[in-house]
Amino acid sequence: MEMNVTGRRVLVLDGTDHAVPIVAGLLRDGADVTVHAATACAALEDLAQRGRLRLTDEPADETAFDLVIRSVPRPRPRPQPAAATTGTGRVTLVGAGPGDAGLVTVAGRATIETADVVVADRLAPWESLAWAPPGVQVIDVSKIPFGRSTSQEDINRLLVEHAKAGRHVVRLKGGDSYVFGRGFEEVQACTAAGVPVTVVPGVTSSVAAPELAGIPVTHRGLAQGFTVISGHVPPGHPDSTLDYAALARSGTTLVVLMGVRTLPAITEALMDGGLSPDTPCALVGDASLTSQRAIHGTLARIATDAAAIGLGAPAVAVIGDVTALEP
Ligand code: SAH
Repeated sequence: MEMNVTGRRVLVLDGTDHAVPIVAGLLRDGADVTVHAATACAALEDLAQRGRLRLTDEPADETAFDLVIRSVPRPRPRPQPAAATTGTGRVTLVGAGPGDAGLVTVAGRATIETADVVVADRLAPWESLAWAPPGVQVIDVSKIPFGRSTSQEDINRLLVEHAKAGRHVVRLKGGDSYVFGRGFEEVQACTAAGVPVTVVPGVTSSVAAPELAGIPVTHRGLAQGFTVISGHVPPGHPDSTLDYAALARSGTTLVVLMGVRTLPAITEALMDGGLSPDTPCALVGDASLTSQRAIHGTLARIATDAAAIGLGAPAVAVIGDVTALEP
């Protein structure tokens, strides 16, 4: 069934992972989506939290909608013919970019189009699931900070189990799989289990987020390099292996991922290391999404200014003179 759903009110009566490709397609096409379900999968909950759809467990008045979707396709029977000969499927890690489905590569899209199972992260673009074949099995392993999460061991096990059942498993990850994505651990887990695995590189937020906010990570005469660090643990934490004094002296643009919560400690450590408090900085949140926001400031103030306007994760902090460039 083809219909133009732009601006239409659509009610979906299914909150499971199976509804995600349908809902993704509806959102991509500009529908006004309500999902009614007693419980919803983490992906739909997350979309609701981000204001992309309404989620309700109260029975909705169906007459108020232009379209009601009562059931969604379930996964097709497996295994596939190819699998019958080899016994094993395969895993493809797809770096799906910072969030806008337009930034999934052509190779990434082609891979999604052949998926039997998609194992997806929160930061991957849900709209891209609309490219998956009908009845694809979507497994949401969102690692919502401090919320519901699936352990890395569980994710590795899922990939291996589904591939061993003869399926093409697409592991959809935010940005590029090898930039703080634990992608290589998944490759190692597949290899150890004898499951063929390949990787499709993605557009990493460490470059794309600054770029979408008008900031080049390098610029002739200003920055001869850029350094990407994780702010997941703060300076001085027993698990931190970064030398902030060396970073302060590096002369490169510093790009901090997962560093919103720890930004006060990180900026402090860089100033202690000798980086000027007046160093221009920016913080770019929700890059590539319609909710994208960016603020500019100085090393001394950026953390306070970001907190004041409630600019939260996911966000990339950029520290260096390139953030003060005008087009
Ligand atoms: N592999 C990913 C990074 C995973 S770590 C990549 O290459 O982009 C998760 C961090 O990425 C977030 O905490 C945030 O710092 C950054 N990030 C991911 N998507 C983002 C987005 N759309 N806007 C801003 N930052 C983003």
